Amino acid sequence: MDRAAWERYSRQILFPGIGEAGQEALLRSAVAIVGCGALGTFHAAALARAGVGRITIIDRDYVEPSNLQRQWLFEEEDAAEAMPKAAAAERRLARINSSVRVRGLVADLTASNAAELLGDASLILDGTDNFETRYLINDFSVSWGVPWIYGAAVGSYGLAMPVLPDRSACLRCVYPEPPEGVQPTCETAGVLNVITSLVASCQVADALKFLSGNAELVEPRITRVDVWNGGMRQVAAPPRDPACPTCGRREFPYLEESRRAPLTLCGRNAVQVHERRRGLDLTELQTRLAPLGEVRANEYALRFRISPYEMTVFADGRAIIKGTSDTGVARSLYARYVGE
Ligand SMILES: [Zn+2]
Repeated sequence: MDRAAWERYSRQILFPGIGEAGQEALLRSAVAIVGCGALGTFHAAALARAGVGRITIIDRDYVEPSNLQRQWLFEEEDAAEAMPKAAAAERRLARINSSVRVRGLVADLTASNAAELLGDASLILDGTDNFETRYLINDFSVSWGVPWIYGAAVGSYGLAMPVLPDRSACLRCVYPEPPEGVQPTCETAGVLNVITSLVASCQVADALKFLSGNAELVEPRITRVDVWNGGMRQVAAPPRDPACPTCGRREFPYLEESRRAPLTLCGRNAVQVHERRRGLDLTELQTRLAPLGEVRANEYALRFRISPYEMTVFADGRAIIKGTSDTGVARSLYARYVGE
């Protein structure tokens, strides 16, 4: 470590738990953050400032005005430009710590790209808002032996739990199936910005232990916290379930599923279409759509308004269609305006 780096990270090096050896380990480490919303923006900023050498951010969505209340890395301009979150985060982090290598991937984590997007990370942080992706991360984690840290927040309440393959319970030991019925989401129940940063802090604390060479200090426990009604409780996670389909029987259905149905983004009156498997020329699409409605595009995404719908089409071929929760309508709009 050179003198400038030593000075930069000196307050962390002085902390006995990290020290110079721990800082060296952080500088050499690689993390993947899945989902760059309230939790993910906090993870990314904290890890970049702490000097984690390589940070991959995977997010499929774009910045909206309603994100600014809690998604720490984003600014009004990002929402006005409808910047993809991964790209906006990459741009901002380069200004926070230019010596860290940040890769912002505008993509939906799926079974077919998980190995490519997560393969070089030694730790995965959960910044997602849905169980489907968490079960996919859990399958990947157990299958590849890469730890991940689960985190979730809604309202004033949140929880965090590290999953350490072979050492602790995995997500399916604790929750064998995704929760049934309608779950409260930030879109329906609201969320306080401080609960997201508190949950993300718990996740980052474990990440710093793990990445600085102190993995044995990461306790397999569930942290539950409520910043409004009070209380923070930490309980030991249950032991590994020998009958768990994932870490017991080593079945990875979420990872093996090669194709998924179009996904409804909960509570947002929007559907994501991701059936197309090749990229799109957004400039060509902009020219084609201009006579039909209002179109705006940047290098990452194109936004097309055709009342009462709004389509945001990404260069990888995905689209988020707002104004409907009907997957049939979404698919037909996609076929009509983007093509097969
Ligand atoms: Zn398990």
